[in-house]
Amino acid sequence: MTYDFDLLVIGAGSGGVRCARIAAGHGARVAVVEARHWGGTCVNLGCVPKKLMVQATEYGEWAEDSRGFGWDMARGTHDWERFIGRKDHEIERLNAIYVRLLEDAGVRLFTGHARFEDAHTLLIGPGPLAPHAEPRRVTAARIVIATGGKPVVQPHIEGQELGIVSDDAFHLKARPDRITIVGSGYIGVEFAGIFAGLGAQATMLYRQKLPLRGFDMDMRQALDEAMGERGIVRHAGALLHRIERDRSALKLTLTDGRELASDMVFFAVGRQPNAAGLGLDNTRVRVTDSGRVITHAGAVTDEPNIFAIGDVTNHQNLTPVAIAEGHILADRLFSGSVREWCFDTVPKAVFFSPPLASVGLTEDEAAAKGPADIYCARFRSMRHVLSGRNRHTTLKLVVDGTSQVVLGAHMLGEEAPEIMQGLAIAVTAGLRKSDFDRTVGIHPSSAEEFVTLRTRTRVAGATGASSHSGVQEVPA
Ligand code: NDP
Repeated sequence: MTYDFDLLVIGAGSGGVRCARIAAGHGARVAVVEARHWGGTCVNLGCVPKKLMVQATEYGEWAEDSRGFGWDMARGTHDWERFIGRKDHEIERLNAIYVRLLEDAGVRLFTGHARFEDAHTLLIGPGPLAPHAEPRRVTAARIVIATGGKPVVQPHIEGQELGIVSDDAFHLKARPDRITIVGSGYIGVEFAGIFAGLGAQATMLYRQKLPLRGFDMDMRQALDEAMGERGIVRHAGALLHRIERDRSALKLTLTDGRELASDMVFFAVGRQPNAAGLGLDNTRVRVTDSGRVITHAGAVTDEPNIFAIGDVTNHQNLTPVAIAEGHILADRLFSGSVREWCFDTVPKAVFFSPPLASVGLTEDEAAAKGPADIYCARFRSMRHVLSGRNRHTTLKLVVDGTSQVVLGAHMLGEEAPEIMQGLAIAVTAGLRKSDFDRTVGIHPSSAEEFVTLRTRTRVAGATGASSHSGVQEVPA
């Protein structure tokens, strides 16, 4: 049987675009179909616009901090509409770059919503990008599902329709004066920082005692303090029960009966895979109850010619992971050699100000495996001694007590993501604490602390017990 294409990718996000380009580079006849926006979540409703928003917040702080260095700058006011316009302009530029990258690679582009008719045939019909598209049928030998995910609206909350999710937050007409964010994962923490940094009163509601469940406990503690320093009101151990309209504002009732007033409620309670409406019933592809496409080794689904990569598989929902998965799959299908990636040491960053970044094991994860040597430092950087800002840097190494291999590195402080990318190489390479110790520092920098940590702070897990202060996690 001959098909229109060797490979058809559904979804032009980070993973899909990389898969298509690499496959085309290997000589395959490739097509991509996209329903909503070229570049997917990362470019349009995620990493890129989020980082621009975080950067927007930094200028206000720098103006304030400059006084300590002799400048007479005032913080001034922020023009939300002007900023959003400039941000949108940049996103449009990136959309065009994605289209050009694919076209230059020889990939055929289809706009519209794709639906499986059988394991090799897609019906491409109208979608948000092409509302009046004439339906057309396209066949391919292999098909990749790279449709990503979308924000979850918290269920079982009366008045939940009055809240927004991250997709909406990028296009608000005006900045709310008071915003209440539900959830303290990546999105909750990052947007609390964004709204607070642009002048809103930001309040967070979350069910744990500390934000960012899953990250190292010392970093969570340090982040909690940094949030307080930025004026973010945190209600730990709190659950929202009801939202009601109250004239031009909203009235929020918590499950313990407390009431709060806010202008906007933002649900940041996780994301779900985008697998509905793809016609998967017409194939043997299986999906879990939570909507995740089930894959096996090699990203293959239960249908041997259909593959899935990125957030739709709900493994590690990060852009660079989706890119790596797309690249590996294209190599495996169309070339003899497969580029290698290590998924055990994927570095992570949460773009608060100051940001948090980490790679490898947390103290508790290491302690559960055996004794671990913990090295911690907390200091005020040179900049903030003069700026007068009450901002600290916290950093930490988690070292295997027996082999002395560095299992994890964690930092909350300015430039933490930039520093962690380099440290991730050392942790991925399995270097030992002695390799860190024999590395000469760069002075003066915050990063040099990672190679000058001489005195062990404590030993964790020697008795099998966690070394921590006993913060109890609330089950998810
Ligand atoms: P996360 O999974 O990171 O966090 C979800 C938050 O919502 C947690 O605080 C969780 O609480 C809470 N929550 C979940 N269900 C409920 C509920 N029913 N009631 C109350 N609270 C609830 O999701 P995000 O939406 O923040 O982000 C989604 C994913 O997107 C991330 O996991 C990450 O993979 C990716 N992302 C990555 C970024 C980056 O790399 N910088 C930036 C943004 C997103 P609890 O902890 O108690 O479960």
